Amino acid sequence: MTDMPLPPADADDRRAIKPVICYPNETLPEAPLALYKAARATATKVDEVLIPARDARCLEVPAGQFFRISSVEGPQVGDLNLWNSKDLSERFFSGKTRALHGTHITTGERMWTSLPTLRPMATIVEDTLGWYGIDAFGGSVHDVIGTRCDPYTGNLLAGDHYHYCCHSNLTRALAAHTGMSLQEAEPYVHDVLNVFMCTGFTRDTGQYFMKASPVRPGDYLEFFAEIDLLGALSACPGGDCSSEHSSDTAACYPMLVEVFAPEEGTLRDWKSPTINGYDRSHGLAR
Ligand SMILES: [Zn+2]
Repeated sequence: MTDMPLPPADADDRRAIKPVICYPNETLPEAPLALYKAARATATKVDEVLIPARDARCLEVPAGQFFRISSVEGPQVGDLNLWNSKDLSERFFSGKTRALHGTHITTGERMWTSLPTLRPMATIVEDTLGWYGIDAFGGSVHDVIGTRCDPYTGNLLAGDHYHYCCHSNLTRALAAHTGMSLQEAEPYVHDVLNVFMCTGFTRDTGQYFMKASPVRPGDYLEFFAEIDLLGALSACPGGDCSSEHSSDTAACYPMLVEVFAPEEGTLRDWKSPTINGYDRSHGLAR
């Protein structure tokens, strides 16, 4: 770069300052995983949805039930949207989930709702890819750093009109499920949890990267629904996201979502989380 400013004399000292965690999360209420696992042990399957390759479907999961997203047939990445099924304005907040838990989430961590409710909407109770950790490239699985592949970015970069990006798949699925038009449904589609996707940021340029997902048929990610959920899952046109997305080039596979209801009484005194406790006065007298 020709317009790079000259570094100050103490540039190295400034760079050497150690970082601090923005949101130390020791005070986050811990998910009662042992209770969830005990309830899951005797839960029975009540629903299942097969997500076709390069397409999306919706599912409803009442608070207190479990849902499992499984790889079937071949390595496939999924883009997940979650809403409060009774109020679609309350939806998954990828950015704050990232700020609280880091770039990728796994067992015991939560998907948080948008402001002003900011409460847990789903808790990961099992992750068969939990062994992956962070690889030598800085990559890991189940990210909350990507947005979702969409036809607008594709048009911006390549001038094309590809219709089976996750954004479009999720929009079609939400419209079909709710009876909204595509134009009504589209603004509800939001930044996703990238299920099974292996991603990170390059150390030299800070760019978002993806690499072949380590997921194999039989692997799954399982959640406990903290509130009444409407979900939509898109089987990304990128397949395992080893080469490209936003096209019909990659090998793509379906994904399976199963819903499990716990036996009466096994959740003991568990209650769906209340909305955030901030008084919402924003500095003005009430
Ligand atoms: Zn996608």
